[in-house]
Amino acid sequence: MNIQKIMSSLEAKHPGELEYLQAVKEVLLSIEDIYNQHPEFEKVKIIERLVEPDRIFTFRVTWVDDKGEVQTNLGYRVQFNSAIGPYKGGLRLHPSVNLGIIKFLGFEQIFKNSLTGLPIGGGKGGSDFDPKGKSDREIMAFCQSFMTELCKYIGADTDVPAGDIGTGAREIGFMFGQYKRIRGVYEGVLTGKGLSYGGSLARTEATGYGLLYLTQELLKLNGIDIAGKTACVSGSGNVAIYAIEKATQLGVKVLTCSDSNGWVYDPDGIDEKKLAYIFELKNLYRGRIREYAEEYGCKYVEGGRPWGEKCDIAMPSATQNELDGDDARTLLANGCFAVSEGANMPSTPEAIEQFLAAKILYAPGKAANAGGVSVSGLEMTQNSMKISWTAEEVDQKLKQIMHDIHEQCTRYGKESDSYTNYVKGANIAGFMKVAKSMVEQGVL
Ligand code: NDP
Repeated sequence: MNIQKIMSSLEAKHPGELEYLQAVKEVLLSIEDIYNQHPEFEKVKIIERLVEPDRIFTFRVTWVDDKGEVQTNLGYRVQFNSAIGPYKGGLRLHPSVNLGIIKFLGFEQIFKNSLTGLPIGGGKGGSDFDPKGKSDREIMAFCQSFMTELCKYIGADTDVPAGDIGTGAREIGFMFGQYKRIRGVYEGVLTGKGLSYGGSLARTEATGYGLLYLTQELLKLNGIDIAGKTACVSGSGNVAIYAIEKATQLGVKVLTCSDSNGWVYDPDGIDEKKLAYIFELKNLYRGRIREYAEEYGCKYVEGGRPWGEKCDIAMPSATQNELDGDDARTLLANGCFAVSEGANMPSTPEAIEQFLAAKILYAPGKAANAGGVSVSGLEMTQNSMKISWTAEEVDQKLKQIMHDIHEQCTRYGKESDSYTNYVKGANIAGFMKVAKSMVEQGVL
């Protein structure tokens, strides 16, 4: 594989799609050796096919705000790869959304979904719509207009979107209602649905809980008990909240969380009661994390990120490239020995280089946050079988999936000095299954 040639060609074809190019390069560097041992992959040009999405939909989303003004946003759905199952991946609603970001997320999703062991391909979508500060009616107007177009491209057996940044239970509900109204079918076309209309128990918690199950495995393999450790978390959304909840249940003291305005440091730890406050603040009042510091009298820092605080474990759970080389150096200097990613690609390439060089325990998002899509996959199964599993059953399956993901990472990521490189392990394990399926299905 000639990585330089492939990257130059992609850079020329897709200039400015920086996050997508970053995600592709990371995977290619990880799989290069194993790819070169499989001439059957090169023969049918697996890489050249894998790095380009099957198809991309871009559409206009027009809606009317509370002042009666007409607003226009851009909508996207990228159907990246369906070698092992229907396209599956969330919908991001955030003003920063552009095609490069959706393509990076869709590309990552191929390998993550493969790692789960479930029959799901990779896709992603979203819009540059900003849900912040919008009324429920405005959110509904946007979601209905968005789904009016999106419903032409998705379906329970073809492409099943879910939540992501800015898309939670409220947005999924509005979108599901509109899909049903237009298509006239009641099917599991979205996951993350409400429990009264086809949602799975434990889906809301799945990404955060899965993150901790994997982190626990990581530490256990190295003879470290997670109880009694300290952690810094970023974000205060779906992933962060349930990561903090499970961490606290496992005896970890979580010192920080954040939103896009700033971060809080609570030396006593974010316990169950304080977490319930954050949950209400974020999901009911749609407030800012600064209010937590006012409520509990602790430190609030406007802007920036919490990586300067001393901790054993860092769990970036907000967004991509939120932890850079300098942050990594600071974390390492402060004794941090494990980094588990709740967000997708939160660490920059330079930060990852630092973690791997220091040989700390480092679990990339692809493996560490795969619990969300895993339970989405379980939601699809329950919908098609028209049954519901109990929360305990789903949690048990989630634990098993995270355990299996960890095993695959160690199987493919073990280096000669017996250090486990989880980046390599996750990328190779995810890639092999997809590549073999593509070969067996012929040149498409
Ligand atoms: P939410 O929208 O629920 O929460 C996102 C959190 O991150 C909020 O606190 C938000 O602050 C903060 N944030 C978002 N963008 C930025 C930014 N540019 N700078 C600083 N802070 C930011 O999203 P999720 O919790 O669902 O997603 C978080 C991450 O986890 C994303 O990378 C997502 O792709 C990934 N992920 C999510 C899964 C899921 O099941 N939901 C599954 C797997 C991965 P504010 O409210 O101020 O915007």
